[in-house]
Amino acid sequence: MRLSRYFLPVLKETPREAQIVSHRYMLQAGMIKQSSAGIYSWLPLGFKMLRKIENIVHEEQAKAGHIAMLMPTLQSADLWRESGRYDGYGEEMLRMKDRHDRDMLFSPTAEEMFTDTFRSYLKSYKDLPLTLYQIQWKFRDEVRPRFGVMRGREFLMKDGYNFDLTKEDALHAYNRHLVTYLRTYERLGLQAIPMRADSGPIGGDYTHEFLVLAETGESEVFYDSAVTDISLGKRDVDFDSHDQCQSIMDEFTSLYARTDETHDEALFNAVPEDRRRVARGIEVGQIFYFGTTYSEPLGATVDDGKGGQTPVHMGSHGIGVSRLLGAIIEASHDDKGIIWPEGVTPFHCGILNMRQGDDACDAACEDLYQQLTNAGLEPLYDDRDERAGAKFGTMDMIGLPWRITVGPRGLKDGKVEVTSRRTGESEEMSPADAVARIVGVYAGL
Ligand code: ATP
Ligand code: MG
Repeated sequence: MRLSRYFLPVLKETPREAQIVSHRYMLQAGMIKQSSAGIYSWLPLGFKMLRKIENIVHEEQAKAGHIAMLMPTLQSADLWRESGRYDGYGEEMLRMKDRHDRDMLFSPTAEEMFTDTFRSYLKSYKDLPLTLYQIQWKFRDEVRPRFGVMRGREFLMKDGYNFDLTKEDALHAYNRHLVTYLRTYERLGLQAIPMRADSGPIGGDYTHEFLVLAETGESEVFYDSAVTDISLGKRDVDFDSHDQCQSIMDEFTSLYARTDETHDEALFNAVPEDRRRVARGIEVGQIFYFGTTYSEPLGATVDDGKGGQTPVHMGSHGIGVSRLLGAIIEASHDDKGIIWPEGVTPFHCGILNMRQGDDACDAACEDLYQQLTNAGLEPLYDDRDERAGAKFGTMDMIGLPWRITVGPRGLKDGKVEVTSRRTGESEEMSPADAVARIVGVYAGL
């Protein structure tokens, strides 16, 4: 992409309405524009990041055999009356009437809709196990929408629903989701700690929340610091293996890690004192096992193969896709702007022309642009007729992990400068080496 042709409305002034850094930088970097309280337009750079995060979520779900589909955002109240949640859900649910005076609502979550789909088509234990999911906009009329996309009213969520014959199979689905979630967050450059949580309005006995540690997080968390030493890395996982998924679950959840809702002072005190941590965290996902809470009232049953009918065991699993953008920025920024992790960045590399209009500089930049593009990468070439300072400022704010700077002096010696956004370190090298360096960085991802 050439910046002169892109739509990147970077703000010069600091937006006053933003209380936390991710909100401020998302506005300043031209990623989002507030439309009304807790509702945002996604400008091209923000939209690009949203799509990239979605792709990673899809890829990790596919590895576990989970199947993507899409449900309507506007749903009939009748289905929610069947489950008993229509009246119980409270004011967070946006309700409306259509022209025939029928009660409708904007889906805040979709247990009912998925259970209804299941009962419409699937009748046999042979159809199980099955996990269906979607990445779809949700609406929750939050009392106090704030912190930009962190607590929006309209937000993008991945929500998945497993259908299993037995509790044991459903708990395997629960563990499998834990693994896919850990993997997803790691690819996004985040450490998200699974913590035992409160099941809230969705109900059920088993639930874990995934929290990214950050001072601006809304939840207070208590944990054994040893949990931050564990990671999945590039471990191979056989998602069909109950034992392997269970052992990963045990490894990640046996140490003390809880939010304030389930915090147990006595258990926490059993953690060696030098490992006890009290901090704040951002909830980026949650998994639930709730058994037959929805399948029973909605009649989602299967023939159990022994002549009987049995309600399916279910769980639901959510990732806050749009909130993740804020979480990544909270976890990775400096005073000049965002620092995207290499695993998820809107563009792989910036090309900065220090003297636009100079034949040698223009030609070298064009050449870098072509070579990086041919190598399958997406560079952002700042080809605007702007001062160098403005170009540096924009690049730093939008946070691309790498930058190649092309100036007349370096070019005389056949050199350009490659700079890491994270460390700020620069190195001079030939344009060919610069391309090889950048290609090398992304080759392993
Ligand atoms: P919270 O406790 O933050 O209100 P929740 O527990 O009600 O969230 P879930 O029903 O578990 O949310 O939804 C799954 C995920 O969707 C959450 O883990 C979170 O990342 C995201 N999410 C929930 N509410 C919002 C919101 N208002 N804005 C942005 N993301 C949200
Ligand atoms: Mg939650």
